Amino acid sequence: MYFDIKKLLNLILCIILVILLSSCSYINTQKNPNVISKSSFALSTVITIKLYGDYDASLIDQCFDLCSEYELIFSRTNSNSELYKLNLMRSMKVSDELLELLKIGLYYSELSEGAFDITIGKVTSMWDFSSETPYLPDEALLNDAVSHVSYKNISIEGNTVTLLDSETAIDLGAVAKGYIADKIKDFLLSNGVEHAVIDLGGNILCIGGKTQENAFTIGLQYPFKDTQASITAISIDDMSVVTSGIYERYFEIDNKLYHHIIDPSTGYPFQNNLVAVTIISEKSVMGDALSTVSFALGLDKSLAMINDMENVFAIFITDDLRLHFSDGVQEKFNISQ
Ligand code: AMP
Ligand code: MG
Repeated sequence: MYFDIKKLLNLILCIILVILLSSCSYINTQKNPNVISKSSFALSTVITIKLYGDYDASLIDQCFDLCSEYELIFSRTNSNSELYKLNLMRSMKVSDELLELLKIGLYYSELSEGAFDITIGKVTSMWDFSSETPYLPDEALLNDAVSHVSYKNISIEGNTVTLLDSETAIDLGAVAKGYIADKIKDFLLSNGVEHAVIDLGGNILCIGGKTQENAFTIGLQYPFKDTQASITAISIDDMSVVTSGIYERYFEIDNKLYHHIIDPSTGYPFQNNLVAVTIISEKSVMGDALSTVSFALGLDKSLAMINDMENVFAIFITDDLRLHFSDGVQEKFNISQ
């Protein structure tokens, strides 16, 4: 009798474990035996990695571990992260990775003359886009927070980073996923992977094409519809596709939509005619930065900026749901609109 109860308990334990594991990751090898796909929840989003070929599935778990490691460097909200400590300590010696991403963030803050600004942390911490009961930040507090936003308040000497203003806080949310995707790609390449898709909550980076002959087809989400509905699709090989869209994180109060890309000069979400900007580039950190930068600068300025850049492309969706393309996108990525 005792033995049976033990067996039963073991069985129940196994069932719970399987349910737990399948809720945080799944392997999909049924549709196509040559595709290994796993998903997990990290970086506050669902991440999926698909390897096209006969690869070791545990490589994907190692990618998830990498995500967790980088989250512990770049998270603004996790009190164990390195960035959290920097925001608290005001001056400290940081890791090479944090230094590298800070410098990238500073570059784009300067490029956009502060429309994109990684010192927006105090402002973004006042907005909660995941609350069940959305609320607007206190206006006076928001106005005060805005006065502490300026990338010029960051000083770097060697690996020592100092925040010159006593209340400036850094938020790397606009660039971290792209940076991490690039690092995951490096890891997979160094392990011999030639065909893969790294999808960090819609921040997509491809390794090669689906096969030697076929590119990947990536759908661009139809704004405010479910994630499977596409407004258009592009064919890409070995490139990154990153979108900044107002439908990604938002709430509505009194029929007004408040989204997560914030104007550093007001503390409120940018109000222009853009719904989304997608950047296609080689490096995902560049795509991640430029999609947010382009949203901040608006359609006309961004089109001119992207058209001046080598091997970087943009697709804009305006609030009339029209698509606008930078030079050469439609031909290069086989877009039929
Ligand atoms: P993304 O989804 O890549 O466009 O980045 C949006 C995230 O970047 C937000 O959730 C904030 O963490 C941060 N952010 C919001 N507004 C700005 C801004 N004007 N400059 C830099 N980062 C921002
Ligand atoms: Mg971004």
